Amino acid sequence: MERCTACRSRLGDSPLCPRCGCDFTLAIRAEKQADRLLCKSVLAWSSGNYALATACALESQAHKQQRLTKVVTALLQKPFWG
Ligand SMILES: [Zn+2]
Repeated sequence: MERCTACRSRLGDSPLCPRCGCDFTLAIRAEKQADRLLCKSVLAWSSGNYALATACALESQAHKQQRLTKVVTALLQKPFWG
């Protein structure tokens, strides 16, 4: 998260917007959790555990919509290698 969704001010290292004071602690935590779940998904995928990989990718998407997660989820649901 780079900008405040309320006032568009640039966010620094603090979870609080320096202009309007919005607290993004939970949103930032959700983004980090989404990234961890995406990593867990790719690791599970690389070890052949497609069920865990798919579950983690879908849960990651629930926390944060991002292009890479959509691609991983799509590839897991329609594998191109077989
Ligand atoms: Zn703000």
